[in-house]
Amino acid sequence: MSALQFIDTHCHLDFPEFDQDRQAVLQGAKNNAVRQIIIPAVTQATWSRSIELCQQQSSCYLALGLHPVFIAQHQSTHLEKITELVKRNQAVAIGEIGLDYYLKQLDRKKQQSFFSQQLCIAKHIGLPAIIHCRKAHDDCIKMLRQHTPAGGIIHAFNGSLQQANKYIEMGFLLGFGGMLTYSRSSKLRKLAVQLPLESIVLETDAPDMTVAQHRGSRNSPEYIPYIAEALAEIRNESVAEIGATTTANAHRVFPGLEL
Ligand SMILES: [Zn+2]
Repeated sequence: MSALQFIDTHCHLDFPEFDQDRQAVLQGAKNNAVRQIIIPAVTQATWSRSIELCQQQSSCYLALGLHPVFIAQHQSTHLEKITELVKRNQAVAIGEIGLDYYLKQLDRKKQQSFFSQQLCIAKHIGLPAIIHCRKAHDDCIKMLRQHTPAGGIIHAFNGSLQQANKYIEMGFLLGFGGMLTYSRSSKLRKLAVQLPLESIVLETDAPDMTVAQHRGSRNSPEYIPYIAEALAEIRNESVAEIGATTTANAHRVFPGLEL
């Protein structure tokens, strides 16, 4: 068996929460066998920050997109720039894009418009999509059926087994993070056992959604092994197997990641 390895498929390491110690966090992640980290961008105003980080750090890979939670900030002129920036900066995915119906103040019509336009871009360029979806799986599945991008990840998946299977049929993987480390996440843990390991990737969503071991503090890509350990325990598989398979899964869905 090759050495232990993990990929954090969803980490906002460009956020200001990491400005004081980003290098130390990157080193800590490396020490914990987290070999690669995908950085999904969230707004046009912060794209340059994500691009710069991924240029400077060989372990960091860029995803470019407009996040639904920041829908009020997005303009159609931002969409026009995505294709060119993706090509110039070797982005491995379009993201973070999607639908958030949990936060009631977000304009749903505008979210749907930006999501479908970014799915079109992903399909046109041939890149996978990193999708944020809260309380909107039925609409999300419908829109993916219309646009069929080249697969991707449903990040922080928290839907039903039936919904998971629909995403898997469309070539999507499901991202599992810190919530798995909480024993009270019984529905999510049950789902993580029912799904084939080939459909799962690991993610932190740092600085948010921290693991039980660091409850109340900032999340970090360094904590990926806690998520792998939780998954290994509930699935009755080894951490090495979880690491190897989820790493292979991430490489399959993101062909732009170096081997
Ligand atoms: Zn995110």
